[in-house]
Amino acid sequence: MTAALQADVVVVGGGPAGAATAWALARNGVDVLVVDAAHFPRAKPCAEYLGPPATRVLSEMGALERIYGAGAVPITGMTVHAPSGKQFHGRFADGPERDNLPTSGVAIQREQLDPILLDRARAVGARVLEGVAVRDLARNTTGRVVGVRVRDADAPVHGDASDARSASDASDASMLRTIEARIVVGADGFGSVVARQLGSSARAPQPRRLAFVAHCHGVSGMGDSRELHLFADGYCELVPVGGGMTSITIVVPATPAHTAADPHAFCTHWLAAHPRVGSRCQRTELPSTLRVAGPFAAHGTRTHRAWAPGACLVGDATESCAPVIGTGIHTALRGGAILGPYLCEALRAPSPARADHALEAYERSRQYEFGTRRLVERLLGSALTVPALMDRVARSLSERHDLADLWVRVVDGIVPVSAALRPGLLWQLFAPPNGRQDLV
Ligand SMILES: Cc1cc2nc3c(=O)[nH]c(=O)nc-3n(C[C@H](O)[C@H](O)[C@H](O)COP(=O)(O)OP(=O)(O)OC[C@H]3O[C@@H](n4cnc5c(N)ncnc54)[C@H](O)[C@@H]3O)c2cc1C
Repeated sequence: MTAALQADVVVVGGGPAGAATAWALARNGVDVLVVDAAHFPRAKPCAEYLGPPATRVLSEMGALERIYGAGAVPITGMTVHAPSGKQFHGRFADGPERDNLPTSGVAIQREQLDPILLDRARAVGARVLEGVAVRDLARNTTGRVVGVRVRDADAPVHGDASDARSASDASDASMLRTIEARIVVGADGFGSVVARQLGSSARAPQPRRLAFVAHCHGVSGMGDSRELHLFADGYCELVPVGGGMTSITIVVPATPAHTAADPHAFCTHWLAAHPRVGSRCQRTELPSTLRVAGPFAAHGTRTHRAWAPGACLVGDATESCAPVIGTGIHTALRGGAILGPYLCEALRAPSPARADHALEAYERSRQYEFGTRRLVERLLGSALTVPALMDRVARSLSERHDLADLWVRVVDGIVPVSAALRPGLLWQLFAPPNGRQDLV
């Protein structure tokens, strides 16, 4: 075994949650090893939009400049097209940024974003092992998690990806090896192996959705906004991701017909049947291979518990939001930032029991930060999929730009939910047109 095969903290997964956790730990001098089954850059089905709260975390990590350097696009607002065709546009900010706080969102391909984040963690001292899949957790006689069991643990640390890949191939048949750790962090995304091993897997309630994601050149009419096109049978998101490329995400109910369909044929047909979006894609060719995600719970999922003795969960491994809201990357990044100090406390603790108190406190802190927001995201996510409701909201907001701005700011977590919970304002949004008066 090499010296790489132990660390104070092993982070399983090098996506946004794992990279942010590793960055938060390594900059405080913690010996942290990130283990990811994939080689970066790796594909991740995603609409690739990050709102202003996420750009602030990226800025704190020193990643934002690099992200713009890689060709990312600043996103200044969101346009929502209701099933009726009525639309409204909300801006994230009224004016230029103040106090150096970014007021725009950003869009960038995940193949570019995720390696930049992982490099930020490396830059402050985190070690990263790519092409190594965690299969199991190692436990001591009391059941406490004391490491992970991996396949291909001989892949070189800091090595070049091709070295790691050939090591992976060569050791396919090799036995599982253990990487010892004082704490294991499951940042391994939706369907987390760590969550499953902790017996904490998220339930995936109905209804379920399936997403198809493609990168295309030449989608007409793209500006600097995230576009959400709602239909009675699903929705489509268009996001300009730089270099004239648009990320197209089509989300539909996960019926057996959709699941069995050839993704390329299905999306071509879907776009033709929805000319509001399809006509924008006439000059573009869908790639022959599309990314498919799901089936996933339309309104997101959450694990029973985000920690267990010696281990904890962060990012999609512990809760995923509805993709229609578009805050999953922020939750992953912010989750890592919240977790870091609790892990440092757990490592300093004089006993395992005291370390577990710190992990338990992390769970409370997550609940405090994300609890209300999750509820609101669920409600908003549900509202966005009810055609009659969104037609009504779009009719109201197309006439009231101030309310449209407020709507997108609440959806994106830029202003607190309480800003939208005034009865007069809710009446403005949802009341039938002839019952509305200026009550705000
Ligand atoms: C269709 C769709 C569109 C979306 N659009 C947006 C959007 O526009 N904006 C937004 O903010 N969010 C969006 N999301 C959500 C967002 O993609 C996730 O919330 C985010 O990627 C979570 O980050 P993470 O680090 O927790 O997990 P991931 O990004 O999934 O990273 C997990 C990592 O763990 C690794 N891994 C998995 N299993 C193992 C294992 N056994 N051993 C080792 N490594 C392992 C994987 O290789 C991966 O690199 C979307 C989601 C979907 C499904």
